[in-house]
Amino acid sequence: MSNEKQFETEAIRTQLERTGFLEHTSPIYLTSSFVFEDAEDMRASFAEEKERNIYSRFTNPNTSEFVDKICKMEGAEAGYAFATGMSAVFSTFAALLKSGDHIVSARSIFGSTHSLFTKYLPKWQITTSYFNSNEPETIESFITPNTKILYAESPTNPAIDVIDLEILGNIAKKHNLILIIDNCFATPYLQQPIKFGAHLVIHSATKLIDGQGRVLGGVTVGNANLIREIYLFSRNTGPALSPFNAWMLSKSLETLAVRVDKHCENAMKVAEFLENHPQVNWVKYPFLKSHPQYEVAKKQMKLGGNIVAFELKGGIEAGRKFLNAIKMCSLSANLGDTRTIVTHPASTTHHSLAEADRLIVNITDGLVRISVGLEHVDDIIQDLQQALI
Ligand SMILES: *Cc1c(COP(=O)(O)O)cnc(C)c1O
Repeated sequence: MSNEKQFETEAIRTQLERTGFLEHTSPIYLTSSFVFEDAEDMRASFAEEKERNIYSRFTNPNTSEFVDKICKMEGAEAGYAFATGMSAVFSTFAALLKSGDHIVSARSIFGSTHSLFTKYLPKWQITTSYFNSNEPETIESFITPNTKILYAESPTNPAIDVIDLEILGNIAKKHNLILIIDNCFATPYLQQPIKFGAHLVIHSATKLIDGQGRVLGGVTVGNANLIREIYLFSRNTGPALSPFNAWMLSKSLETLAVRVDKHCENAMKVAEFLENHPQVNWVKYPFLKSHPQYEVAKKQMKLGGNIVAFELKGGIEAGRKFLNAIKMCSLSANLGDTRTIVTHPASTTHHSLAEADRLIVNITDGLVRISVGLEHVDDIIQDLQQALI
């Protein structure tokens, strides 16, 4: 009989071995280093003849508990935890690529990941080509003999396109590419990219994994050989997650399933409300039948997630007016919080892009993104309703 338990159980019952105090919750190990019994113990530890903690830049009991949980939730062999989502993204690429390598990436990706590909990796002669999220059939035309990595997020930010992970998995296999998926918007509860052929999965734990807007964190999990490269790179370069934040994130995972269920229930109601509002041109939510990739979303996601995108009639000016009229919801850069957050990308996060470039990634002037929180959904809808007049 398998020892594997259900997702919710692993999220709660994966924990460190109890100490002599028989504590119910894992303690926090705020220690920068660990001691050795004697010279032989120290030699064997550094030679990795035994698995043990040496220094918290390498491993720490709290970060290990957090990583073990995410591995179980994603069906991954191994992982490493980072101080932020972006340090997970950067360290993963820096550890696996060398000068001359090439990436094929979805065009709609997180802003800082886009900056990494366009501003920083080219300093080491690492280049990137982009495919449109809704045209995965074009991916193969971008692959060159130097292509090493195929990269995507799904659902995408902020336009909420859904990319068929099975197609990506098949292309990666055929061309011997490393498929990396940023699974931040879905969380391991809604979508497990490794099942579709991903080799590595990255999370910004800052979002729904913490879920309460408190701490930053990131994690990369997947194939053990690739994680070994990422671990060695990170152990030498220092992006490690703090034990305190790891403890917070591990506790947060205990409630991930119930929180995300409720987030999705609220988001679905908000999406349906907006779809019927006369001031709204269109709504994008993966589990609305009107979503262009509804069938793909149903195939690869358990529920639709907590992010709803919609287009206001009236463009940039209508977007600004709407934000100014919001009373309860927050205007903030975060997402995946208990608090509902409203953003208008064209006048904020993506204002530096020319309109034509925004349109390539489906960011129209009237696009509003809502990270639906856990307040009572009637109050969320009431706030949106009064701001839409
Ligand atoms: C926020 C985010 C990141 C970056 O995470 P940080 O924890 O803010 O560094 C990466 N990818 C996606 C999709 C995100 O939403």
